[in-house]
Amino acid sequence: MTNKAVSRGRATVCGVYVLLLLGGCASSEVQNDYADAEMIVDPAGSWSEPPVAVTPPLVAIKPTVINHGSRSLKRIALTFDACSLDAQSYYDERVARILIDNRIPATIFVGGKWMRDHPEQLRALATLPQFELANHGFMHTHMTRISDERVRQELKWTQDTMYAMIGRQPTLFRAPYGEINHRLVRLAAESGLRTVQFDLPSGDADKKASKKKLIEYVTTVAKPGSIVVMHINRRGWHTAEALPEIIAKLRKRGFEFVTVSELLGLDPTPVEAPPSDTASAFPPVPAHYDDTAYDRN
Ligand SMILES: [Zn+2]
Repeated sequence: MTNKAVSRGRATVCGVYVLLLLGGCASSEVQNDYADAEMIVDPAGSWSEPPVAVTPPLVAIKPTVINHGSRSLKRIALTFDACSLDAQSYYDERVARILIDNRIPATIFVGGKWMRDHPEQLRALATLPQFELANHGFMHTHMTRISDERVRQELKWTQDTMYAMIGRQPTLFRAPYGEINHRLVRLAAESGLRTVQFDLPSGDADKKASKKKLIEYVTTVAKPGSIVVMHINRRGWHTAEALPEIIAKLRKRGFEFVTVSELLGLDPTPVEAPPSDTASAFPPVPAHYDDTAYDRN
């Protein structure tokens, strides 16, 4: 089953290059700030074998939620989520190409399974210093509703996967669907991860958000220090169409584009050499995962 899931993902990789990205990811990035949700049975909880720990643990930090940077500097962070999907994960290579061509730094929050599905794309993105790569959970589950143990797995398996594939591990985490609560933020902090939200949801997850609407909204609402959330896996939607004009208009307004770490004055994620034989150390893909159990919009 594991192999089936992996091969299906790889089949979608057209062997291209920096330019294949995902589509269809997180649903409404609607924030559910600090809501206490009822525990649910998490279908991603059934794994065929325990993951192998390969990543040096990060030092625990104080629980931190970041919504934006300093309002006194005219800097802005564009962020893109690459959400894991069971049936289909996509990569919108147009988004990456636009960012590359315009030399726009950006932070990309990647799902663990998405990395497994898109190894070539991940490695290509990792070669470009303008991109900061961060943790977006492993299976894109509703993390406020799963057990502490499963939250730790979601975080760690994603750290382990990235470390094994590109030799670095994130220090920033964005919760799937933007759903956080105190417990999730604390567990992320115990894993050494800062939780990054946003103050400018672009709305690109809404099929009805046209190119024109996206451009108008983002470029009008943007403030110094804003963290903008968009998606790099929304196949068929309007992110890539709107992005060039969003960049041009924000530039015209005098904004400087930075990664989230730069926005916050943090050190960039160090790149380390991964252990030589980590290929077998990837977290296993769940034996079964019922994607339809979640409202993915
Ligand atoms: Zn997502």
